[in-house]
Amino acid sequence: MTVYDRAEPARAASWAGAGMLAPFSEQMPDAAMLALCRESLAIYPEFVAELRERTGVDARFRRDGTLHVALDGARLAELAAHAETFRANGGEVAVLDRGEALAREPMLAKDLAGGLFVANEAQVDNRRLGRALLAGCESLGVRIERVDGLAVECDSRRVRGLRTAYGFASAPVVVNAAGAWAGSLPGIPDAARVRVRPVAGQMLAIAIPRTAMRALVWLGHRYLVPRDDGRLLVGATVEEHGFDARVTAAGMHDLLDAALAVAPSLATFAVVETWAGLRPGSHDGRPYLGATALDGYLVACGHYRNGILLAPATARAIAELVAGGPADRLAPFAPARGGTEPEPTVANGLS
Ligand SMILES: Cc1cc2nc3c(=O)[nH]c(=O)nc-3n(C[C@H](O)[C@H](O)[C@H](O)COP(=O)(O)OP(=O)(O)OC[C@H]3O[C@@H](n4cnc5c(N)ncnc54)[C@H](O)[C@@H]3O)c2cc1C
Repeated sequence: MTVYDRAEPARAASWAGAGMLAPFSEQMPDAAMLALCRESLAIYPEFVAELRERTGVDARFRRDGTLHVALDGARLAELAAHAETFRANGGEVAVLDRGEALAREPMLAKDLAGGLFVANEAQVDNRRLGRALLAGCESLGVRIERVDGLAVECDSRRVRGLRTAYGFASAPVVVNAAGAWAGSLPGIPDAARVRVRPVAGQMLAIAIPRTAMRALVWLGHRYLVPRDDGRLLVGATVEEHGFDARVTAAGMHDLLDAALAVAPSLATFAVVETWAGLRPGSHDGRPYLGATALDGYLVACGHYRNGILLAPATARAIAELVAGGPADRLAPFAPARGGTEPEPTVANGLS
């Protein structure tokens, strides 16, 4: 088996992401997506433990929950009103008053009103996860090749392999996992193409005392993610203007505004890193997983905001398919499905 990448592998969106494993806090387009995300969260501890044993790289899975912060009473009432929906989706939630929220996270604004705590959400250090996965692949004899000019080759019925600037490699099965670029890989017939689009996200990191914050902290659409190494990630913007992954003044302003509103004491700490990445968006909020109109050509892309969360479930599902397993489980994610952007049907109600 060979992984071809035109750049350093595990350095694109999978490096840029925040690593939150938050199926209840993220808006889900439907029940099938929620179920897949929950399945993936359930296998995460075992996935990370196996990688650690195999490679020595610990991707630092942590289940410290998510705290949705309310800065005023109206927002707290709104959060409390959605507690039942979180529960119905599988979230273990509690509504916290000011004292309880501050007891959990003392760095937060002293005058906040309270919050909604989701105990069964987690995080992983996605940069370490990328390193662990590369080492894991190498330990299993998977070749990782850096290539230019990658194109899929096929006849009228099935895939034949891949052509690169260095020659042709025959392959009975090709899996397109090219992230935000998956829709524009050369050589694929229109009938087998997926509609992936880039959705940029900017982030920054602030150095804080290690363990000063434990949970993922959300303020509306912005969030704080405390890492074990003392970095507090602040994310993320959501921007649709093509393949543009620049860090902008407006993006940083927006993130710092949210971070300082929820934790004013962050003002005195150093900003140590800024970055941006491109999420692979699909047309309806679900990833494209599985077989296409072209025999032997599979896709695993379009994971949008949940690609880190969905990594183990995606890997398992695609591996089963390549080994000849049944495809029905992946029907809701069929690459050729139609439809347009739906109203979320199992949304947690938060905005
Ligand atoms: C700011 C931000 C925050 C996020 N936060 C979270 C989060 O908290 N939790 C979560 O679950 N998800 C999160 N995500 C989403 C998640 O990061 C993505 O869904 C996931 O990483 C997508 O993985 P991928 O492998 O499909 O794409 P990528 O990681 O982008 O990888 C695509 C790879 O394809 C290669 N490639 C592209 N074109 C070609 C070509 N023509 N030839 C050869 N190789 C090619 C690239 O070089 C790259 O290595 C976030 C994303 C961003 C940007």
